[in-house]
Amino acid sequence: MTEAKYYQGGRVFVIGGANSAGQGAIFLSRYASEVTLLKRGMSLEESMSKYLIDQIRGTENIEVKLQTEMSAVHGTGRLEAITIRNNETKEKEKAPADAVFLFIGAVPHSAIVSDIVERSEEGFILTGPDLIRAGHKPKNWKLRRDPLLMETSVPGIFAAGDVRHNVVRRVASAVGQGAVAISMVHKYLETV
Ligand SMILES: Cc1cc2nc3c(=O)[nH]c(=O)nc-3n(C[C@H](O)[C@H](O)[C@H](O)COP(=O)(O)OP(=O)(O)OC[C@H]3O[C@@H](n4cnc5c(N)ncnc54)[C@H](O)[C@@H]3O)c2cc1C
Repeated sequence: MTEAKYYQGGRVFVIGGANSAGQGAIFLSRYASEVTLLKRGMSLEESMSKYLIDQIRGTENIEVKLQTEMSAVHGTGRLEAITIRNNETKEKEKAPADAVFLFIGAVPHSAIVSDIVERSEEGFILTGPDLIRAGHKPKNWKLRRDPLLMETSVPGIFAAGDVRHNVVRRVASAVGQGAVAISMVHKYLETV
C-alpha cells in the first residue's frame, strides 16, 4: 500500500502469473497510469483465479503480455526502463518503467531452524506425515510414536502456516493450522 502511492501516474510492471501478481496488478492500477503484467506462460487461466482474470480484463490501464519476461533493467541511480523479451518471437523491446514488482514465488524464512529441524529442498519445514519416508521415522527420532500433525522432526517443536511443506498457502489455512498446532502441543505435553 505504501509502495503503490509512490507510483501515482507512473508506469509499473508486475512480473508473475499467479493470484499474487493479479492482486498486485489490480491494486497498483488504482495509482499508476499504466500497469503491465508480464507472464512467461501461455495464458493467465493456467495459474490465476477467474475472478482476478475478469477484473484484469475489465481494467483499462492493465495490459497483459504473455510468453514474455524481463531480461534487463536500465537506469542511473534508479529504475528508468526494462527490456522485455518475447519468448515466442525472440524480439526484445525497451520500455520506460518507474517500478517493477516481482510476484514469482516465496522463499521461506526458515534458516533460523536449519540446524534443528528437517526441511524440504526449498527450505519449507517438514511436519507430521511428511517426515515418514518409506515407513521410516525421521533420523534421530527416538520416540515410539510417529510425529504428531504439525510436529517437526524434533519432538515438542511444532510449525504452522506458510513455512510448512505441502500446505495450502491461505490465511484461513494458516490460522487453522495454528489452532491445530496448539491442540497438538497439549497432546504432546500429556506425554512428558
Ligand atoms: C501478495 C500476496 C497476496 C495474498 N493474498 C491472499 C488472499 O487474498 N487470501 C489468502 O487467504 N491468502 C493470501 N495470501 C497468503 C497469505 O498471506 C498467507 O497464507 C498467510 O499470511 C500465511 O500466514 P503465516 O502466519 O503462516 O505467515 P506470514 O503471514 O508470512 O507470517 C510470518 C511472520 O513471521 C515473521 N518472521 C519470519 N521470520 C521470523 C523470525 N526469525 N523471528 C520472528 N519473526 C519472524 C514474519 O515477519 C511474518 O510476520 C497472499 C500472500 C501474498 C504474498
